[in-house]
Amino acid sequence: MIRIKNEVCMRRTFTDPAVKRDDLREAALLVLKQVSKSYGATAALHGLDFIVPQDRYVSLLGASGSGKTTLLRLIAGFEEPDAGRILLDDARLDGVPTHRRDIGFVFQNFALFPHLSVAENVAFGLKYRADNRVTDADEIRARSNDMLDLVGLKGLGGRAVGAISGGQKQRVALARTLVCEPRVVLLDEPLGALDANLRERMCDELRQIRARLGVSFLHVTGSETEALKMGDEVAVLSGGRISHSAAPTEVFTQPANAETARHLNAYNTFAGRVANGVLETPEGPLRLPRDSKLVEGTTAEMSVRFDRIAVLAPESASDGRMGLPARFITSEFNGSTRLCFFRALDGELIQVLDHLSAPRLPDLDEGSAYELRFDPEDAILHPQRAA
Ligand code: ADP
Ligand code: MG
Repeated sequence: MIRIKNEVCMRRTFTDPAVKRDDLREAALLVLKQVSKSYGATAALHGLDFIVPQDRYVSLLGASGSGKTTLLRLIAGFEEPDAGRILLDDARLDGVPTHRRDIGFVFQNFALFPHLSVAENVAFGLKYRADNRVTDADEIRARSNDMLDLVGLKGLGGRAVGAISGGQKQRVALARTLVCEPRVVLLDEPLGALDANLRERMCDELRQIRARLGVSFLHVTGSETEALKMGDEVAVLSGGRISHSAAPTEVFTQPANAETARHLNAYNTFAGRVANGVLETPEGPLRLPRDSKLVEGTTAEMSVRFDRIAVLAPESASDGRMGLPARFITSEFNGSTRLCFFRALDGELIQVLDHLSAPRLPDLDEGSAYELRFDPEDAILHPQRAA
């Protein structure tokens, strides 16, 4: 049994994965309240509220430049927020220096010490940290070796970091962080530098390593598939705030708003105004779900999954039912699926996904006009939020 596991588990009171979300709130480990950060005129984060529960893998999905790294840097203490509070176990972190925050950081480029061996990189934090420095050489060796075993680098401690692969560097960076027993580990696009096969394997391993240690991981990524796959919870960062935070299936199937839906790369979104019982959009009128209860004249957005849209050729679309006219542009073959791109009347792109194990789409001619339809009950309606 490795040391960190014993110690960390003793600190943990919450380990039951069946616990309800309300209870998760109580088990909040890291809490950000109304956090803002600007660089000159650029507001990177704007009144952001966010919770990382104890003993959870949290993924944070955001586009490039959305403020993911900024958020991690604020949590780690490399920078201070302009406004708002950051709390770890109910204690405010502002003013607490980075090395006293109990927070680990795995950098995007690994940031290993090139002149030190693998084992020396891992031992570095134990030997030189501000508090609880470990001076006993046997203990340092034992704890570093435990960590190298945990991340799958047994026996490689003596190697120079220049003589190991990208995937192995990633593991050294992780071991170096974990050996100091942080409460939360921040991972900045940890799989970005790895090739596709390795990325797949590291995904599983990161989840297993985290579960064995019982620490919380906050993993930021620009990839929706990675975020959904990795996280027990997925938070979406959009416009400087968290637009939705929930279990991955909930975020994917019931995105709370159109911003969240747009990040999932699986939904078309339509914005419009309710008039005569339909949503009037620049792409055309859309029927509303039965119990939408929207008031005439109000604005709303609608999200419709790529695989929920049917395509009709003009001759078979003359039954008077409502559909969106659109021109077929091209399609992308992805093995088990085919993603088809259409251009609506207003020039907007509409995407339709066909699963090739159960194909639904007719033959499509590039440049020809079609009609796109969906069942309004399959659409997710987002009434406009109060400003
Ligand atoms: P992400 O990690 O999601 O790609 P960042 O947090 O790096 O995004 O950046 C968010 C925004 O803040 C971007 O517009 C970026 O240009 C800006 N930014 C980040 N760091 C600085 C800095 N040190 N000085 C000026 N602008 C910055
Ligand atoms: Mg970044």
